[in-house]
Amino acid sequence: MAARKKRSSARTPRTALGTLAVIILAALAWAGSEMGLFDNVRLAPRATPLPGDGLYVTFIDVGQGDSTLASCEGETLLIDAGVPEAGPEVAAYLDSVGVTELDYVVCTHAHEDHCGGLDYILENYEVGTLFAPYTEFDASGSFTHFEDTAAELGLDITVPELGAEFTLGGAVFEFIGPVGGWDGDVNDSSLVVRLDYGDDSFLFTGDIGSGPLTDCALIGGYDLDCDVLKLGHHGSSTSTDEEVMRLTSPEVAIASCGLDNSYGHPHDEVVALCEDFGALLLRTDRDGDIALHSDGAEVTRVA
Ligand SMILES: [Zn+2]
Repeated sequence: MAARKKRSSARTPRTALGTLAVIILAALAWAGSEMGLFDNVRLAPRATPLPGDGLYVTFIDVGQGDSTLASCEGETLLIDAGVPEAGPEVAAYLDSVGVTELDYVVCTHAHEDHCGGLDYILENYEVGTLFAPYTEFDASGSFTHFEDTAAELGLDITVPELGAEFTLGGAVFEFIGPVGGWDGDVNDSSLVVRLDYGDDSFLFTGDIGSGPLTDCALIGGYDLDCDVLKLGHHGSSTSTDEEVMRLTSPEVAIASCGLDNSYGHPHDEVVALCEDFGALLLRTDRDGDIALHSDGAEVTRVA
């Protein structure tokens, strides 16, 4: 308190020139905000390559589906790519931020709204390591198509071991689920990925149900606490309950869903839970592409 008082009293004898400068700056700030200049400065232009500093995570708007790009210091990770029709949209986003190759691609599970667009991505980008929860899955045409495309391109599908860690620039991502069998429910086969950069953490949950997600902590012993939670199953109440919110305690929750989708995602109960737990809910159906930046200490929204 004493130091603050001292600083303000030192500023008090302002010269006439200083006062004029303050007035001019204030006028410029007002004019700039009126013209929307500073709004543009705050938002990262879509067609500009991602800077090399820190970690960028973008939840790409693919309608009813999931697709997330994480980029850190020149290395890239793509998790899912929406339905088949969304493949070119995901590619357009990658192109707009200067991504020409993907170090890692994760297919969280065999549903079309996650793996459908990956064929297009595999065909059009150099891919390093490709992850999926299994190498064969007969009951899903879109996953079979994905497997065939990977095979044609000579890309092996890697089933990650639980707890396997990979570096992404200065960040680290880890496969922390599922920890048990998925009992025939394809959603519950979703790979759960935790991404850490400095003190900041992101949790990507695919469409896994709330029970199997909490098992990652209760049985697997993995830390689910995060700054940003990609809500499971597009914000469905089957994936997010009070226990999930308690274990994850996110500052920001993301619902990746289509406008006026027939499933009612995100469900009212989940919207209410986000409010109750003080998490800012962002949704691709209303916000479009959601781009976040982490400097390792703080997560900020850049678009
Ligand atoms: Zn889904």
